[in-house]
Amino acid sequence: MTDSSPYRGRLAPSPTGYLHVGHARTFWVAAQRAAQHGGTLILRNEDLDRQRCRPEFVHAMYEDLHWLGLHWSEGPDCGGPYEPYSQSQRRDFYVEAWRKLRDSGFIYPCTCSRKDVAEAASAPNNEADDEPLYSGKCRARSDAAQWTVPAGVNWRFRVPDREEVAFNDRHLGAQHYVAGSDFGDFVIWRRDDVPAYQLAVVVDDAAMRITEVVRGADLLKSTARQILLCRALGAPVPDHYHCDLVRDKAGLRLAKRHHALSIRGLRESGWTPEQVLEMQA
Ligand code: GLU
Repeated sequence: MTDSSPYRGRLAPSPTGYLHVGHARTFWVAAQRAAQHGGTLILRNEDLDRQRCRPEFVHAMYEDLHWLGLHWSEGPDCGGPYEPYSQSQRRDFYVEAWRKLRDSGFIYPCTCSRKDVAEAASAPNNEADDEPLYSGKCRARSDAAQWTVPAGVNWRFRVPDREEVAFNDRHLGAQHYVAGSDFGDFVIWRRDDVPAYQLAVVVDDAAMRITEVVRGADLLKSTARQILLCRALGAPVPDHYHCDLVRDKAGLRLAKRHHALSIRGLRESGWTPEQVLEMQA
């Protein structure tokens, strides 16, 4: 991003469970960075996955973030110039991006099942949240232009094989990934007709004029995918600041399912916001 753009950062939680101490830390950093730059902080509700997101978690998310002392000036609860701020209400933006990618030949429909993909993966997938390296079985398909709507198949982004995708992370320094070996053709639209995380985040960060993305280091590799998507869509690439992940004593990443480490759980046990933010798990 150019230095002349006013700083705009975002908190982008998914309401699939209660926020945990890892989110608290990351969101605190995001808020600090926005404040240090005299910028704007927005809250985006990433509630695309209808199977996993629940309204009570949306409510809990606002409450927990406010309790921690975090404030935002644009969001689903307070409006703003780039409404709507809930992804479930932004489908038109994602369909428009899908069309653009279809028309410019960047994506193809894929009918491989999840099982086919897992079995054909040419490299073991070590990161639980990451998608397996796609074998490329449907890659040569040339029927993309015949689809008028994305529903019914997975849509994959054809990555430029062996191209290095590099970026300078504001916290972790120089990063580089190789398309086709560190990650393969990734899904941008799911067969159950839900836009995939990678697409939604790129479309929204561009539409909401986000200048710096602050999030957990578990998404570093996704940043490489998202940079490719930005280029394909002609969207500016924001700056990135990936926070260290909070791990427990056994070195395991904290996840939302650890209720004891949810912001809510800690607060119910009498912790203060300061203690939650400084917690060593
Ligand atoms: N909604 C995503 C999550 O909760 C984060 C997306 C992002 O920051 O890019 O994991």
